[in-house]
Amino acid sequence: MEHIDEVLNDAWVGKEIEVRGWVHRERGSNKMKFILLRDSTNYVQCVFNRNDFEKIWNEIDHVQVETSIIVRGELKKDERAPTGYEVRVKSYEIVGKSENFPITKDQSIEFLADNRHLWLRSSKMMAILKIRSTVFGAIHEYFRGEGFYEYQSPIFQAVQCEGGSELFSVNYFDRKDVFLAQTWQLYAEPAIFSLEKIYTIAPSFRAERSKTSRHLTEYWHAEMEVAWADFDTIINYGEACVKHIVKRVLEKNERELKILERDTSKLELAVKKPFVRMTYTDALKVLDEKFGMKIEWGKDLRTIEEEKLTTLYDVPIICTRYPKKVKAFYMIEDPENPDVVLGVDFLAPDGYGEIIGGSQREHDIEKIKARLVEAGEDPSQYEFYLDTRRYGSVPHGGFGLGVERVVRWICGLDTIKDAIPFPRTIERYKP
Ligand code: ATP
Ligand code: MG
Repeated sequence: MEHIDEVLNDAWVGKEIEVRGWVHRERGSNKMKFILLRDSTNYVQCVFNRNDFEKIWNEIDHVQVETSIIVRGELKKDERAPTGYEVRVKSYEIVGKSENFPITKDQSIEFLADNRHLWLRSSKMMAILKIRSTVFGAIHEYFRGEGFYEYQSPIFQAVQCEGGSELFSVNYFDRKDVFLAQTWQLYAEPAIFSLEKIYTIAPSFRAERSKTSRHLTEYWHAEMEVAWADFDTIINYGEACVKHIVKRVLEKNERELKILERDTSKLELAVKKPFVRMTYTDALKVLDEKFGMKIEWGKDLRTIEEEKLTTLYDVPIICTRYPKKVKAFYMIEDPENPDVVLGVDFLAPDGYGEIIGGSQREHDIEKIKARLVEAGEDPSQYEFYLDTRRYGSVPHGGFGLGVERVVRWICGLDTIKDAIPFPRTIERYKP
């Protein structure tokens, strides 16, 4: 038994092969039947000649899309075949029948979402899922290569970190103060005193009420945290990590990027060129100068502004030093300007938006307590976390990268929903 992609080359021409997979397309006449067979590696056209199968022609004639089948025959070269070769079938076995597969051409987006479990078989989803797999692999490879330990934080959490309005509470044996993780951060910081450099890839949950093309309620979050790190060190890890991910996808997924019609020259720039670095305050100036958009200093950048900004550059933008009041309590003040914090967002080009959020953390216990109070939190709820500032506090920081945000950008997808097998949003939690 061979995988289809293994045999699609001249060395196999004239040889007997055996392949198995699913009928991706079929068409026939009363003399011939053409099946485009799909497995996880590629497609190959299989040709059944009626003369060879006269007695069982009825069965062959009725083979429908998504039937699983094993096929044996001789491989021929044929320019007209979709992948340049075809199998002249000598024998076959139907493994699992398929009748009236619900997905046919030109279905609505809604219908495809309802049938997501079947839509995963489409060329588009196959290409995206393969790229997604490369992205996960590249993240692990990058951090392990840099000497990070993989570390896991809890998903059930009793504190909140990124703003209460987007918390999912859980019915935890009738308790109401348990939430699904929005980030690993408060449970990651304690571990750097043990492991120094840690990372994870885990689900994060956010009750996003607005319908946008970049928010899911459940997404995969690649997060890192490093002891003894200053702001630039954290930013440099982020840039190198994104470059490594894109590089790996370009190496491993040329075919998939082609199926998705992605312009890869743009992705190559993200590997080769340094990312653009600017402060929030610079960003406001640029927005004013180039687009006449006047934003009051202190307001967070909205999607529309971020999108505009990213159209000016062909590589991601690393935007730093945001106003303190728009960022989370744990971000450290800039020693040179207490109105801003050493927080950073990475913005992908062409309007794909934020892919990374990170910061250097406030490591002084009194300052962080004051920030918690300013944020309307009760510091006594954070006792375990404050212990990180009580016993051997060190400068440190980290970032979170939204895996689906990166997959969406790399694949050039209209919506983040296509970057995950079963997207969850405010209105979609099935199938
Ligand atoms: P946004 O402003 O886009 O809502 P955020 O500031 O809430 O993002 P962070 O809290 O910094 O995001 O989270 C870290 C990263 O996680 C983000 O840079 C992004 O890549 C990803 N992310 C955040 N929220 C979502 C979401 N709802 N769906 C998918 N990815 C997300
Ligand atoms: Mg958000």
